[in-house]
Amino acid sequence: MSWDNSRRLPPDRARARVLFIYVGGTIGMRRLDESNPASPLANVAAAELAEEIQAFGVEERIHWTLLGLCNGEGVEIPPVDSSEIGPHHWLWMAQMLERYYADYDGFVILHGTDTLAYTASALSFLCVNLAKPVVLTGSQLPIFTLRSDARQNLLHALLVAGAKAVSLPIVPEVTVCFASVLLRGNRARKASTSGWQGFASPNYPALGSLGERIRIHTDLICPMPAEDAAFYVGRALQDQVLDLTLFPGIQASQLRALLKQPELQGLVLRAYGSGNAPEDPALLDCLGEAVSRGLAILVVTQCSEGRVDLGRYASSRGLLQRQLASGFDLTPEAALTKLMWVLANEKGPEIRAQLQQNQRGEQSYVRHEVRFEPGEGEREVWELNARAAGAVSRRGLEAAMLRLQVDGAEQLKVELYERTILQLPQAQGGSVTDVTDGVRRYMVDDRPFHLRLRAERPFRLLLAELLLTAKS
Ligand code: ASP
Repeated sequence: MSWDNSRRLPPDRARARVLFIYVGGTIGMRRLDESNPASPLANVAAAELAEEIQAFGVEERIHWTLLGLCNGEGVEIPPVDSSEIGPHHWLWMAQMLERYYADYDGFVILHGTDTLAYTASALSFLCVNLAKPVVLTGSQLPIFTLRSDARQNLLHALLVAGAKAVSLPIVPEVTVCFASVLLRGNRARKASTSGWQGFASPNYPALGSLGERIRIHTDLICPMPAEDAAFYVGRALQDQVLDLTLFPGIQASQLRALLKQPELQGLVLRAYGSGNAPEDPALLDCLGEAVSRGLAILVVTQCSEGRVDLGRYASSRGLLQRQLASGFDLTPEAALTKLMWVLANEKGPEIRAQLQQNQRGEQSYVRHEVRFEPGEGEREVWELNARAAGAVSRRGLEAAMLRLQVDGAEQLKVELYERTILQLPQAQGGSVTDVTDGVRRYMVDDRPFHLRLRAERPFRLLLAELLLTAKS
């Protein structure tokens, strides 16, 4: 069934068309027993919500249609508290966007606030070549109560989605519109269980502000895709993932028990501060072994603001050495959904490579791994050449770490284009060393990296990799 505002605004008078997808959440809830204030809130049916918002958009001449969420077979499901939401709901939402994409100028998803940031992030990855606004909103109090934020949130979302009708810039992104801000969906986090400003975007400015006037900061929004780039949505997400927060006292045995599940494909690790973890070798080796078995581990910070900078402290070099991927300033919600999406689409080393790239504006930094292929045998001098997979410029370079695994070398000298960038007194086993200064000084844009490793006697080189961090 579908509902619309045709009674108040005939479609032929509309300046823009918007589709509401009513997933559920407080915005559409009532007390189960209206006479009992202690009775729990539950969602009303789509028809009742549609009736309540009949006047919305009429003045602005935005014609809207409201649909409930439909499952993979196209059958409408009842609205739900957002605690029920899972990856299959995200795929259904994406399918609805694809199915109705050509018929509407924008989309508003009405969703519970608890997991709204996960949904916004997941949809941002699933939508490819998005050229229309997809706006998520919800509220702290139901729309049926007088003192509620729901009416304003819903109306603001409708205006952003129906931008054309009210001469606002089109935001071709998945966004969250809540209280007085419009946020990039994959940067948003639920910040308050009850305050009107329910969402924050700790690592990226708001895309718009909604006060007496609505302002969209066009310099901050993602560019429109090319005109001939057709919109489509991803069809799969890998749900065999875990999200784990490090805590003082965590034991390797606990971690091992979690990571030994054979079906597990990925892990978001919420590390301390800028990506730190205990230096306990048992714990680190447990992570390293999981990575060697093919588990993708994406490191984010537990802090509510800032970014992971693997290698900055000794206590994060262990993670870098063991090939965990850096999630930079990803929110945990974006990290988890990005992991699900990348795992469903990539294989082998491409998984880590894609995890560390900026896909939809979700992170402010990227990592390029320049992997040198050393070859067999023992040599006193190793000459190595390799290119970064993506374009890295000297100006954009933020940090460079050199990851080496050698056998039988002491007093190792490392040169980049024949200039010394590092002298290692002891280079047995594995090491990760900060070579930012040397790389910044000598790297040449668009030229393959040329490394020379020199020791006093022949040694084996098992691994050599430059990890370059750049602003995205
Ligand atoms: N429990 C509700 C939900 O997330 C909370 C809300 O919508 O604010 O569905």
